[in-house]
Amino acid sequence: MNAPRQLESDRPLLFLDVDGVLSLFGFSTGTGAPGRFHFVDGIAHCIGDQCGGRLARLLDRYDAVWATGWEEKANEYLPTLLELPDLDLPVLAFDGRAVFGSANWKVEAIDEYAGDRPAAWIDDNHDDDCRRWARERSAPTLLVSTESASGLSDEHVERLLEWAEEVSGEGRRSSPHSANAPPRGA
Ligand SMILES: [Mg+2]
Repeated sequence: MNAPRQLESDRPLLFLDVDGVLSLFGFSTGTGAPGRFHFVDGIAHCIGDQCGGRLARLLDRYDAVWATGWEEKANEYLPTLLELPDLDLPVLAFDGRAVFGSANWKVEAIDEYAGDRPAAWIDDNHDDDCRRWARERSAPTLLVSTESASGLSDEHVERLLEWAEEVSGEGRRSSPHSANAPPRGA
């Protein structure tokens, strides 16, 4: 069920990686690909079969933000590839700092965007810098780490929905600063 419009700002943020979360790689080709291949700027991307539906469930409970080296290309290509035609999310800019296979270059922009709001971050490359950031935030923070070969799973979605419910409950009872959930993931 969609949250009433006036409550949207109470929803937690969800920072969303693409490669290794929605676009899969590193899987064994012996059993067939876990999704369909699409070319984006001449590069083949395997978009996970279930990823669009799973993301749609999260969008019901989160204010999602692209946190990916795709930057503006995420809104350009992914609504079609994920079969979510209305998808149009804010995009973090990384000013050329993006390095495939890592995520610590995202922390500064994510931190700035998140401010003091509860925030979850799903990515296949969380490292010690990311985990330290999550640990040290005063607002509730959740890291959800994926495997690049399988990406966003039903289990990740369930965990994220459960957490969104938890922090929404905390938000109704107290100020955002008093509800610091430990980061989970890995
Ligand atoms: Mg990634």
